Formats: sequence, C-alpha cells, structure tokens
Amino acid sequence: MKVTLQHLTKKYPARGKGQQKEVIAVNDFTFEIPDGKLIGLLGPSGCGKSTTLNLLSGLQTPTSGRIFFGEEDVTDLPPQNRGVGLVFQNYALYPHMTVRQNILFPLQNLKGKDKPSKEDMERRALEAAKLVQLGDLMERKPAELSGGQQQRVAIARALVKMPRILLLDEPLSNLDARLRLQTREEIRRIQRETQITTIFVTHDQEEAMSISDQIVVMKDGIIQQIGQPQKVYDDPINLFVAKFLGTPPINVFSGEVKDQRLFIGGADVLKAPGVADQPVWVGIRPEGFVLEESGPLCCALQGVEVMGRDITVVAGHPDCENTAIRAIISAENTVNAASETVSFALKPNKVFLFSRETEGRLL
Ligand code: ADP
Ligand code: MG
Repeated sequence: MKVTLQHLTKKYPARGKGQQKEVIAVNDFTFEIPDGKLIGLLGPSGCGKSTTLNLLSGLQTPTSGRIFFGEEDVTDLPPQNRGVGLVFQNYALYPHMTVRQNILFPLQNLKGKDKPSKEDMERRALEAAKLVQLGDLMERKPAELSGGQQQRVAIARALVKMPRILLLDEPLSNLDARLRLQTREEIRRIQRETQITTIFVTHDQEEAMSISDQIVVMKDGIIQQIGQPQKVYDDPINLFVAKFLGTPPINVFSGEVKDQRLFIGGADVLKAPGVADQPVWVGIRPEGFVLEESGPLCCALQGVEVMGRDITVVAGHPDCENTAIRAIISAENTVNAASETVSFALKPNKVFLFSRETEGRLL
C-alpha cells in the first residue's frame, strides 16, 4: 500500500504562561512512500519521528495536512479502522498470556463480521508466529523469552491482523548489541516476505542505513533529505546530514575557497571548480584521505589503529572541529607511528563543501 503525506503538520501548543514556546513537531511533511518498501525515519531525539508515526497510526490528529493510504484519505479515520500494525520499543506483551494468546489477542478483539472463526484465528496466529520464527515457542510466557524473541512476538501480534502498513517505533532500542543486529535482519526478512509497506523509526543512523530502501533524515520537525541510504551518504544536502550519517563521523574543517581552489589552514588542498570565493565548512569522509608524503594536508599524528583490513590514522589539525581526525586507509599502507606528522591528499568525491552561513552544500 502506497502512503502519501501532504503538508502534514503537528503543532503542540505552548504550555504555561509563555514559558514554553509552541513546538512544531512535524513541519509540512510532503512525501510519498512507495508500495511494499521499508522506509527509515531517521533523526536525533526530539526531531518528530514518533509524532509522525502517531499521525500515521491515528493515535494523534494533525494540526493540518492529509494522509492517504493508497488513494484513500485516512486523515479522519480512527486508529482501529486504518489497518496499521504498531510495534514499540517496549514490547508491551501481556505477561500472564502465552505467546499464542498474545498473538491471538488482536483477532479475538475484532467485532462482528470482521471476527474470523476460531480455526482461522489459530491458523493465522501460527502463521504469524512461524514468520517470526517462534512457531515452536507458542506455549511460553514472555518472561521465558529473550528480549529479541519478545520483540518478535510483538511483531507477530502486529502482523496477525494483516495490516496495510507496519509502523515500528525504535523497535530495537531495548535489545543488546548482538540481538539488535539479528533482529534488524529479521525485520528486513519479514518485510521482504510480507511486502507490507513498513515505516521504521530510529535515531541510529547505522540501523536505518542498513535496512531501509529509503531514509528520511529529519531535524527539528523538518525533513532534511530523502533518498536511498548510499545516495544520501554520498551526496548530503547539508552539513547536518553529512554529520549525522557515517561511522566514524565525517571530519569537518574550516576552510576557504579562493580562485576555484580550496584552502585549509593556508594549504591549497583541492580544486573547487565553480565555487565562489568564500569561507566554507569542509567535510571529509574518513575514507577520503590518501596517505601521501608530499600531500597538501599536513596533520599532527596522534595514533595508528590497525584493524586487519583497514588502518585508522588518528590525527589532529587546528582547523578541524573534530577533536581527532579519523582517516581510514587500506592496510596495505604503512604508517610510521613514531612520526610527528602525517600528510594526506584528498579524494575529491569524498570532500563536501558547505556554506558557512546556511550550512547548505556548495556544488
Ligand atoms: P522523536 O520521536 O523524534 O524523539 P517526538 O515526535 O516524540 O520526537 O517529539 C517531537 C517534539 O515534540 C519534541 O520537541 C517533543 O518535546 C515534542 N512533543 C512530543 N509530544 C508532545 C506532547 N504531547 N506535548 C507537547 N510537546 C510534545
Ligand atoms: Mg520517539
């Protein structure tokens, strides 16, 4: 099912006597989520991710704007009539019920002609449990399951009603690192198998990048950029997006463009064709550095971390805002750890220039 947001806006009124300003949690969102895709809503805490999800589920009503599922305008439909499956960070299972009973619960709650026969309910509950690979654990209680298994029960419970849209709000946040990885792959597999249009909310860029067909990067209730994860990484629209995506993070220098050349700390480091003379922010991805003895960007060497496939050169530069520059280079290189300085040339496609005033990308 395709999902369309049209000028969707949610404002929370100011509280108290002018002590707190009105918050625009979701500011004029207009975009389309293609049928059958997994979309990652990504941004720091407080940027409006949960509010967006709650507007889609119907738990909250927008201040203005419309929501369409397919061609149907669902903006005024109550949540139970929207056909959405919801999964939250805290799995919220009924502790006294078995896995089977937990998954059956939403079906038993259906009324009138929507309510399937008993056999149908059992069959669908088992199907959903098998989909999340819990078919053998149907008689367990939540306390007898790992966190990852509990979250899979919550996903099965959301799927059993055969929702038109699946909405997941930070579903992996309560899991430890290893389960987080496993469960996110599991979610990707389930989504591929069911082909349900899925919206996955997270503040974790790596999580969003790894499972999404498209990411929507948000900040302060405003969409910054929408696109395939790799495209957004390779072509960030502004400094915020460039800094938000990537581990280790992008290295940000203050620099200056003069006569179509880029200078960092007085050193002429790269061509800057078509960019007007101005002070700029320079973002250099960790993989954008090339070790070169006579390279133009000279840094103070702080350390060398050998990681098998790669070497991370840790360095410092007075014009870099990161306390430590991290340059990732192939392990075929050798770096003299005793040396005081290290020099780099730069890969042009890994260097981005941003306006100092607007922080927008300069092309
Ligand atoms: P996220 O899920 O990205 O962390 P939220 O959607 O929860 O962000 O919140 C977005 C903004 O709206 C935040 O500034 C938050 O403080 C504010 N907010 C959320 N819910 C309410 C509410 N019920 N009343 C007032 N402000 C709220
Ligand atoms: Mg949230």
